[in-house]
Amino acid sequence: MHARAFALALAAVIAAAPAPRASSQDKIRVVTTSADLKSLVEAVGGDRLEVESLTAPEQDPHTVEIKPTQLARLRGAALIVRIGLDHEPWFARLPVPRVPVVDASRSVRLLQTQTPRLRAERQAHVHAFGNTHYWLDPHNARPITQAVLAALTALRPDEAAAFEANRNAFLSRLDARISAWEQALKRLYGARIVVVHDSWAYFAERFGLQIVAAAEPHPGISPSPAELAALFKRMRDSNVRILIADPHANPALVQQIKERGGARSVTLLPSAPDYVALFEENVRRLSASLGPD
Ligand SMILES: [Zn+2]
Repeated sequence: MHARAFALALAAVIAAAPAPRASSQDKIRVVTTSADLKSLVEAVGGDRLEVESLTAPEQDPHTVEIKPTQLARLRGAALIVRIGLDHEPWFARLPVPRVPVVDASRSVRLLQTQTPRLRAERQAHVHAFGNTHYWLDPHNARPITQAVLAALTALRPDEAAAFEANRNAFLSRLDARISAWEQALKRLYGARIVVVHDSWAYFAERFGLQIVAAAEPHPGISPSPAELAALFKRMRDSNVRILIADPHANPALVQQIKERGGARSVTLLPSAPDYVALFEENVRRLSASLGPD
């Protein structure tokens, strides 16, 4: 469909959607672009919000297809919270209402921002402005929820104290769990790993894993046979023990890297409905991949 016709069709879908009912106890309607952001927004807003995510955790965030149900969710939103940069290329095609948008990437220290080889690359790719998977360092929940707190407070100044108390309670709980996760992953400190898609830069930095290489030569691009051969050699030369795959990685590719590169593979979750549970599960999977002490 032509871009303009597509935009008009989207507008029609929005217009046809039923108007939101005068909301239950006047809750603030928030739309996020990911389930992880939804979880973090809820941690601050608690029951004063009604939050919906435009994507499900199991979807590849870079290649989501926009559906009418997503468009309906945007209607009536008072606040939008997104990952930003080029993480959600589909976001630019949405008829976004004129409400405040929190771009959480502005609140964190980004990794891999200086990658001129990516900028020079002609093929379509993602992470061109830095690695966008920053929520996978649990310490980044602090600046992200700070940005959310500021936006919610601007919308409802009289509820600022409640939002702040929610956030503080969440961060205390999270800090306690971060210590437990660091302890659980101590055995892996300094371990050399390979990833399929580079979702894991922030997670690796936090927990002391060394990413030797990503199978995708550029984020979002499949490796050529020559690139794969170089990867296998590199994995064997640097004694890589673990391959981390995302759930939407090509299973044949994962199997091939595992066999030819000589590493164990573990599928970690880059996204989950609950932010703390996301790390609980990934720490459990990583520990299990190592076997008993
Ligand atoms: Zn990515």
